[in-house]
Amino acid sequence: MTNVTSPSSESMMETPKTGLRGWNFKPDVPLQISPFFVWPLNPGKALVWVFRSWFPVSERLLLVPLAIVSWFYLHPALERCKEFAPDWILQIYVRNLGLMVLVAGGLHLYFYTFRKQGDNHRFDTRALAKNNRVFTFNNQIFDNMFWTCASGVTVWTAYEVVMMWGMANGYVPYLMWSDNPVWFVVLFALVPLWESFYFYFIHRLIHYPFLYRTVHSLHHRNINVGPWSGMSMHPVEHIIYLGSVLIHWLVISHPIHVIYHLQYFTLTAATTHTGFDGLVKGNKNKLGLGTFHHQMHHRYFECNYGGLELPLDKWFGSFHDGTVESHEKFLERRRRMTGVPQ
Ligand SMILES: [Zn+2]
Ligand SMILES: [Zn+2]
Repeated sequence: MTNVTSPSSESMMETPKTGLRGWNFKPDVPLQISPFFVWPLNPGKALVWVFRSWFPVSERLLLVPLAIVSWFYLHPALERCKEFAPDWILQIYVRNLGLMVLVAGGLHLYFYTFRKQGDNHRFDTRALAKNNRVFTFNNQIFDNMFWTCASGVTVWTAYEVVMMWGMANGYVPYLMWSDNPVWFVVLFALVPLWESFYFYFIHRLIHYPFLYRTVHSLHHRNINVGPWSGMSMHPVEHIIYLGSVLIHWLVISHPIHVIYHLQYFTLTAATTHTGFDGLVKGNKNKLGLGTFHHQMHHRYFECNYGGLELPLDKWFGSFHDGTVESHEKFLERRRRMTGVPQ
């Protein structure tokens, strides 16, 4: 893919001359892509990758019971969703807002307010911005909270409402557990893969100059990130990003999958922007949170548009694996794109 924008003119852009210096914590590099796409296929490594991405505990695993509880206890009965009405829509909005405040707010309090982990496994130790006119309210956290709650949770709720309305009226195909229990379980595993695929392409799209300037630059105000940064996006980006859930108009699923899909996209956006590699206890990473892969995207811009599940960055030449050699290649690519010697 060519003709990707260079936001090099952005005033906040990190000068590439800082190279790979300035990271407080770097995981083991080179970052590894999914072994499913490394030839010859190593089934042992592939199994370990799948196991580790879910067990013993992971964000995606924790979100499965959350989606189930949300459906059974925190969701309006599907009967009520046949017609749009403020009461059930508000119920979904309040629940989604509560979840976002719980996850992003909880992580912020833990890592930044009470600094429970200090700077241990923190990628970038620079403070989140205050008195900076780039941000709404001149404050990074207030800016991030505002765009997350006012736009992010609203768009999330709007999609969930439309999906539930579609399912209640039979417009969206409805899968019962008894129809196909295997497919029911497999669907949970497919959501992260779909996210990796979908996010890569829409992310490349919003890096085109016009969309970058008018839409995506809002998310890129955050050179360093915190939990509230993940869903801090322009409303148009929220609409594009969460539009991924519309796949369920084609792929038969249960409302729990729709809830899971949306919670995965929204809540892991918060967790992956924590700014820390994970929840560390006794120098052991007990729960993976932030990803160095995406953290580099926030600092260097023109690399690592997707995730590591699918090697799309590698295939399209935008992969930065965190090594010095990879950084040199990245700088060379940027020189070619911008024509500016750096
Ligand atoms: Zn971006
Ligand atoms: Zn981001």
